[in-house]
Amino acid sequence: MFEKLLIANRGEIALRIQRACRELGIKTVVVHSQADTEAKYVKLADESVCIGPPASRDSYLNVPAIISAAEVTDAEAIHPGYGFLSENADFAERVEKSGFVFIGPRPESIRLMGDKVSAKEAMTKAGVPVVPGSEGALPEDQKEVVRIARAVGYPVIIKAAGGGGGRGMRVVHTEAALLNAVAMTRAEAQAAFNNASVYLEKFLENPRHIEIQVLADEYRSAVYLGERDCSMQRRHQKIIEEGPAPGISRRLLDRIGARCADACRKIGYRGAGTFEFLYENGEFYFIEMNTRVQVEHPVTELITGIDIVQEQIRIAAGEKLRFRQRDIVIKGHAIECRINAEDPYKFTPSPGRITAWHPPGGPGIRVDSHAYTNYFVPPNYDSMIGKLIAYGDTRDQAIRRMRIALSEMAVEGIQTNLALHRELLADARFVSGGTSIHYLEQKLALRGA
Ligand code: ADP
Repeated sequence: MFEKLLIANRGEIALRIQRACRELGIKTVVVHSQADTEAKYVKLADESVCIGPPASRDSYLNVPAIISAAEVTDAEAIHPGYGFLSENADFAERVEKSGFVFIGPRPESIRLMGDKVSAKEAMTKAGVPVVPGSEGALPEDQKEVVRIARAVGYPVIIKAAGGGGGRGMRVVHTEAALLNAVAMTRAEAQAAFNNASVYLEKFLENPRHIEIQVLADEYRSAVYLGERDCSMQRRHQKIIEEGPAPGISRRLLDRIGARCADACRKIGYRGAGTFEFLYENGEFYFIEMNTRVQVEHPVTELITGIDIVQEQIRIAAGEKLRFRQRDIVIKGHAIECRINAEDPYKFTPSPGRITAWHPPGGPGIRVDSHAYTNYFVPPNYDSMIGKLIAYGDTRDQAIRRMRIALSEMAVEGIQTNLALHRELLADARFVSGGTSIHYLEQKLALRGA
């Protein structure tokens, strides 16, 4: 096992990784920007290194500064967390070339999954069902594009091969709008991702977002750790996640889970990963794979009893997976609410000083957050300041516990989306389970009216 590990991230996930390291007896180095110098989790680490000014591109995305921090502190491995450099294949390569272990998949796997066209191709080959659409990237030939769209059937969605974060997508309802939409998505994709390659797929009208968590080791062993339902989204940003997915048969979920684990073995995947699917009318359609730990990983940790971050570290250290598929038992239900520093109605960010922080507690409640009374939420980064996770023997119990936790939790000095979560946990459609990815925006639109 490593003696010392560098955490190339910030906020709650930097603290989460630090906790995993402490349990494993690994010393931690936290790198931070000037905006995060005073954060408690920075002081808690064994060592900390300031790597630049607040702007992410000068600090958390500053590869040479991160590598030299690892060199001067004698760290052996680098954990990238999520966001920032976590899915940057060039970074993973630099880390390994500099003699450190990257806590994550091989750079080739990150690259394969980072291009959505090659990811879809690889998944088709590995027997994972994908959204029907163009075979690979769309050709230049306009007649051919029209033919492909007709064969797939309207509505269709044009997506950038290099897209991410919900950007570089356009829905097309009629043939008349097709070619213009393709041209515009191409131009945008070129400007935003430096890659004009676009593809086309069937636009699913009312899907749910269901994702499968996997773990795979160096030696082609792989398991799936059940699924999460992340359909409660606004602008493709998840707000509530839960597991198991309500109302989908275990048989169907096990079948898709087994396909994902199998795909990991086929592509030689290593580490933790998530296969994201749209689910509609009893069918799963792969949309993308995230080659890193996800924000919502605690949901899976609570229902499987497996510490995903620790397993990531063990796998990177060359250990074999410690369990087979039959050892993975899903028990109970977990729900996660992302707590954001933002206006709960207008969604404008609300950075600033937290004057009072009262986290909830009690049976089945987990709070993953780096925030505290007097913590200053910097304006430079994502607005998520923590995650509230409730566990229960049943979904009903998890919901009740989450409602109590939300009623206890108080944050003063900044605005948070706690009010929205309280509203959603009381929402009849959410409570019955199985809402689509459009539900939240439809509800918000009604509220606006
Ligand atoms: P990104 O990497 O930008 O998050 P994804 O491919 O994961 O892109 O898609 C983001 C979101 O866009 C999905 O969660 C879904 O809401 C919507 N979406 C993507 N593809 C389709 C599709 N074929 N039909 C309907 N909605 C889609």
